[in-house]
Amino acid sequence: MPKKILITPKSFGMYKAKSYPLILEKGYEIIENTLGRTFTEEDILSLAKNDVVGIIIGIDPLPASLLRQCKDLKAISKYGVGMDNIDLEIAKELGIKVKNALGTNNISVAEHTIALMFSISRNIPSIAAGVKNGSWGRVIGAELTGKKLGIFGGGQIGKEVAKRTKGLMMEVSIYDPYFSDESFLKSHDINRCFDLNKLFSSSDIISLHVPITHETNGIINKNTLGIMKPSAFLINTSRGELVDEEALYDALVNKNIAGAAQDVFSSEPPNKDDKLLKLDNFILTPHIGAFTREAVENMVMVSTKNLLEMLA
Ligand code: NAD
Repeated sequence: MPKKILITPKSFGMYKAKSYPLILEKGYEIIENTLGRTFTEEDILSLAKNDVVGIIIGIDPLPASLLRQCKDLKAISKYGVGMDNIDLEIAKELGIKVKNALGTNNISVAEHTIALMFSISRNIPSIAAGVKNGSWGRVIGAELTGKKLGIFGGGQIGKEVAKRTKGLMMEVSIYDPYFSDESFLKSHDINRCFDLNKLFSSSDIISLHVPITHETNGIINKNTLGIMKPSAFLINTSRGELVDEEALYDALVNKNIAGAAQDVFSSEPPNKDDKLLKLDNFILTPHIGAFTREAVENMVMVSTKNLLEMLA
């Protein structure tokens, strides 16, 4: 039986002409995602239970129970950065190697973060939708220039957002207790904030760039939203679980904050009747932060090379 590689991300196929030959020349057989949607645990199990030695995984779930049943699995290559869909502890216990595609999509996500800042501060989605429906109604916006941006998480994406927003003449602060790149702060004239409450209470925009951990899960909640300025915007291009959506809804309806724009949600896709989606001061895009031609090509090639290296 030839050894097989399962590739789950739907967009991977865009660059298969460049990536598949690298896999095939090593003698592996490829199993593609032909369902046109994110796989469920059951989908993966039915394909990967036997003979699959490597998986290139998108945001599809790889929990402990599933990993234990994939008998021949040796390596998991993350197509992207966030590894919260993989049980890393069990993978380690089972001797399955795991690697993510660092540095492949940080620029695309940073640019989308900034697009969301402009979209929410100028109400672009709701106004533009109104024009298509025959309205010429204008809603007053706010400039970004001179505003205080609080970046929560100064990793690959947070730093790219920081550099670019300095170019927009914003006053930028990073909160990240694990950050150690002081020369980056100096060379880009970026502040370091050590007090989370201060970051939330003083910023005009809070932008989230952290993984989900026990410290960050639900970090946007009644308390943190309660100390933000009524004119402030929240931007979340990281993960839906960072935000208590019930508390966010209350804050947006009661005008405790001015608006929120997200690229991620607690369940993707969201229920179409979700009450947050009904609000004009809430924007949601369908997890497109890394969905650019450039980032997709980088993710395809780096995740392929990572997998082949781990299997070598
Ligand atoms: P990264 O690992 O480079 O950076 C994460 C940063 O968060 C690190 O600097 C870390 O020190 C910091 N951090 C960890 N715990 C913290 C805490 N308690 N308080 C403050 N800072 C803390 O990751 P990245 O590549 O910058 O990605 C950031 C997030 O973006 C991840 O959640 C990832 O899943 C998400 N992401 C989203 C998309 C998208 O399409 N929307 C694409 C890629 C990544």
